[in-house]
Amino acid sequence: MAILDILTYPDPRLRIKSKPVSKFDAEFQKLVDDMLETMRDAPGVGLAAPQIGEPLQLVVIEYNEDEEDEDARPKRYVIANPQFTWFSEEKVTDLEGCLSVPGFTGTVERSEAVRLKAQNRFGKPIKLSVDGWLARIFQHEIDHLNGVLYIDKALEVHRPSAEEAEQVQE
Ligand code: ZN
Repeated sequence: MAILDILTYPDPRLRIKSKPVSKFDAEFQKLVDDMLETMRDAPGVGLAAPQIGEPLQLVVIEYNEDEEDEDARPKRYVIANPQFTWFSEEKVTDLEGCLSVPGFTGTVERSEAVRLKAQNRFGKPIKLSVDGWLARIFQHEIDHLNGVLYIDKALEVHRPSAEEAEQVQE
């Protein structure tokens, strides 16, 4: 496996609309593994393929919902060709950061819960229903596939306080 370079704003490659994944071959499996390793090394809770210069509809997410419980294993998602099928009417506003916009955080309104259909790393169709922080992470990462960054949607963006820096993941 390899740790890949993460592109940072204002790199124009972050603005490209990604293409669907069509081949779930060995080369694709290596890309998935490299992205997982790169995300953990950063460290982050999510990474989208355009962030490492691959304009493909591919997202990896690894998130531990219960941070108090050190034994809890983080949930891992490898998502190809995602399509939202439902957004909750309930919205929540909270702080977000991005590995491609280092040193900043911002307030973003997102749906509290979402449903989506996608394919797993082997091309098998899957359906997901997520809420809370996980729903925020999915919305943030899938925006990357459309060339959208959280700073485009943020109500405000600022340099985080030390306390906020600890709180904001990704
Ligand atoms: Zn991001």
